[in-house]
Amino acid sequence: MTLSQGICCRGLMNCLIKGTSVTKPILSLRLTSNFISVALPQENSSRCTNDSCQTMTPERSWKSTNDFNSFVKYICSYETYVKDQILEHIYQKMDQDGLLCKLKKKKLEDVVCKLLNAMEQASNKLSDDDTNIPNLVNQMRKYLIKDIVISDEAQQHSLFQIQSTCESFTQSFIAALTTLKETLLDEFSNTDGTTKTLNKLAIKPQNELFKRIFGCGQQCPFCKVPCEAGGKEHSKHHAAVHRPQGLGRYRNDITEDLVESLCSTDVQSDCRFLNPVKQGEWVQYKDYATIFPDWHIPPDPTMEASDFWKYVLVRYNKQFAKRYEAKPANVPQTWKKITKEQALKGLRDTFGMKGGNL
Ligand SMILES: [Zn+2]
Ligand SMILES: [Zn+2]
Repeated sequence: MTLSQGICCRGLMNCLIKGTSVTKPILSLRLTSNFISVALPQENSSRCTNDSCQTMTPERSWKSTNDFNSFVKYICSYETYVKDQILEHIYQKMDQDGLLCKLKKKKLEDVVCKLLNAMEQASNKLSDDDTNIPNLVNQMRKYLIKDIVISDEAQQHSLFQIQSTCESFTQSFIAALTTLKETLLDEFSNTDGTTKTLNKLAIKPQNELFKRIFGCGQQCPFCKVPCEAGGKEHSKHHAAVHRPQGLGRYRNDITEDLVESLCSTDVQSDCRFLNPVKQGEWVQYKDYATIFPDWHIPPDPTMEASDFWKYVLVRYNKQFAKRYEAKPANVPQTWKKITKEQALKGLRDTFGMKGGNL
């Protein structure tokens, strides 16, 4: 291999496998789906039905109801909370038995195999003494088109002024590929941890999984319950059961008490709320849609919140008040009788969970 051929081949390899400012690294692109399938074995599932997925659903994942800060983060920063949970889950899985390193090695083997196959097939189309290297690489692109994109820019950067026969170039290519493979395998074993790899991924698995499983991420403007409408395409956000609004920071403007009532109860009452976009303007809850047209909050006269959230408000009433700089909610006496076991049972019933997970 001549020096110039070696440099050109390595340049092409780097463009292909490691990526440059103009080309995306194959390994990074392809690993996102691995991260997703590790966290979610049923990759096409749109619902949480398996054990690993259950651990990422916040209400299901709480081992106990003792962590007040988790509740606040979950209620007030739902999307961040869930993505952090997903990441924690991914870290746990990827760090088990060096799984990440194994996945990368397998992926690299696949990429190298595809490149070698493409080179072999492209070479068969041309005679050995052909000197049209760009033509050879163009042929390769045809075989790689489904899997690997060699941009025009990468091709031109790498191949200018090569004076060589195709056979000689092919040998250089294979030698450079072998060397690069060995170097990368060493790097995988020694340096690249899960964090570093995740940072390099163009498509973040936690964002993909959030969209796929947890929907649009919007929260009720009153109680902060997350939208339960599946998928991205829905005309209105909605949730089956709303929560005491004080959990979502809502307070009585005069007394500063956190509001214990549910938004789904108030939307059929004469109660009013302060318009968040027009200072000092009071709006009737029944007209909420004029202010929040993207939400559908069906009236529910039963005041049915899950026992879980009633229990949470009762138990952490003072802490919520302090955190939200308000006064504690006037919770109904009946809520105070809800036991922790009843609260967790309500949660299990809601999600159809088997016992023992909490
Ligand atoms: Zn609500
Ligand atoms: Zn929605």
